[in-house]
Amino acid sequence: MTHQHSHRDPACLEVFARLSEFIDGELPALDCGEIEAHIADCPPCIDFLNSLKKCVAVSEEFRNAAECPPMPAEMEEKLRAAWTAALARRG
Ligand SMILES: [Zn+2]
Repeated sequence: MTHQHSHRDPACLEVFARLSEFIDGELPALDCGEIEAHIADCPPCIDFLNSLKKCVAVSEEFRNAAECPPMPAEMEEKLRAAWTAALARRG
């Protein structure tokens, strides 16, 4: 694979934008495959995905107990910051 990218790679930004849909299984299979292929080759995205999965697990617990938005803006901010930091470390 000749997949290369910097911290400004649009693919990373697209992955970030779509990850919550990806986690919820709302993306078409093709998009999932493309995102999975990108993530497999991109440590910052792997880190971000792992963080997001933890947060999704937590929010699902909340959803069982009470009605809660799937991704509160505050949580998204934290995830975005963590993801940006991961990319900065890589770059
Ligand atoms: Zn990436």
